[in-house]
Amino acid sequence: MADVKPNLLVLGSGIVGLHTAIRLEQDYPHAQVTIMAPRNLNVGEAAATAGASLFRPTPRIPGTHPDMNTEWIRSSWDYYQHLRRTIPNRLTGIYQIPMYFLTSANQTPKSDPMMGLNHVRTCSKAELQLFGPKEKYTEGKCTSTIVMNPEHYLPWAMRAFKGRWIQRRIDSWNDFINEEMYDLVVNCTGLDASRLCNEINLTPLRSQILRVKAPWIKIAVLADNNNYIVPGMDDVTIGRCSQYDNQNLQVDANDSEVLWREATSLLPNLKKAQIECETVSLRPHPFIRIEREKIELIDGSNLSIIHHYGHGDLGFLAPGTAITASRLVGEQIQIRNQN
Ligand SMILES: Cc1cc2nc3c(=O)[nH]c(=O)nc-3n(C[C@H](O)[C@H](O)[C@H](O)COP(=O)(O)OP(=O)(O)OC[C@H]3O[C@@H](n4cnc5c(N)ncnc54)[C@H](O)[C@@H]3O)c2cc1C
Repeated sequence: MADVKPNLLVLGSGIVGLHTAIRLEQDYPHAQVTIMAPRNLNVGEAAATAGASLFRPTPRIPGTHPDMNTEWIRSSWDYYQHLRRTIPNRLTGIYQIPMYFLTSANQTPKSDPMMGLNHVRTCSKAELQLFGPKEKYTEGKCTSTIVMNPEHYLPWAMRAFKGRWIQRRIDSWNDFINEEMYDLVVNCTGLDASRLCNEINLTPLRSQILRVKAPWIKIAVLADNNNYIVPGMDDVTIGRCSQYDNQNLQVDANDSEVLWREATSLLPNLKKAQIECETVSLRPHPFIRIEREKIELIDGSNLSIIHHYGHGDLGFLAPGTAITASRLVGEQIQIRNQN
């Protein structure tokens, strides 16, 4: 393959697939990069649209070495900061807002919720009184973090990708038999990887959120690492409900009621906001897999795959994890060139 253009396929066009494809174009400008996904503009279907999409570093991802985790956090943070400083946020949907981490008396506060990325200060007692119920939160940290509006960011990322699109869903790896020959497939199918790869580590988490119109809310709040209120460009996301191994996609009136009660108790000036929609979505419990695999298809041929999925509520790490996935692609291209 020395003088032949590597033909690389990215399966999936969520935030992980898009970042992978953009990274591959950047790292291997001589390659042909294609994205294959059921719909080109999957803004409506991407799990990211359901989320608050807030940058919240987490010190431990199951199955990931802490050094790797730190590298992903740092490179993703640097990526978004660069974007924020160089491209107007009305185009990218990326911007920075103040963020409060609140902890009640029976919980252990995180010493540095931003893991050294940004300055964090301890809230004063008077500041804590801004949040309800009265006296519940005994400790608070204030910083600023990145919020991404998927409705703006995903179309921007799609435009940043200059390669080819194929609109198609595959049912199994054998669908690639008698098809165009790809040197490599990067599997960015999110939760669907559990079906394609018989992946047992991808347990679905059910999340129900409310979106409300409340343009006066300018701060993000995360209480006891659980309830959150996050202002976006067009609305405010209220979330918490995260149910392990529950695949019910119906909106549950009781969940909505709890979300609304707790959010309006946390920030009482939300009470006059209008609820715009309630949505439910599934995301995998985070277990990020970035790994090479050679799969033997039923006709005896081989398909080289780099898996890149399982971000759960850490879709924000896609720019960082895409660097690792792209490195594996480079190694695989080298191996192929030597053969
Ligand atoms: C309620 C909620 C809150 C969240 N909050 C945050 C947050 O605060 N911060 C954060 O970073 N993240 C958050 N997330 C998570 C983040 O949105 C996800 O991690 C991210 O969307 C996952 O991206 P992905 O590209 O891996 O998967 P997806 O967005 O699911 O994309 C998968 C892609 O693969 C395609 N595909 C699937 N199967 C096939 C197939 N068989 N053939 C072809 N194509 C296929 C799909 O069509 C799609 O294009 C939240 C998610 C939810 C639901």
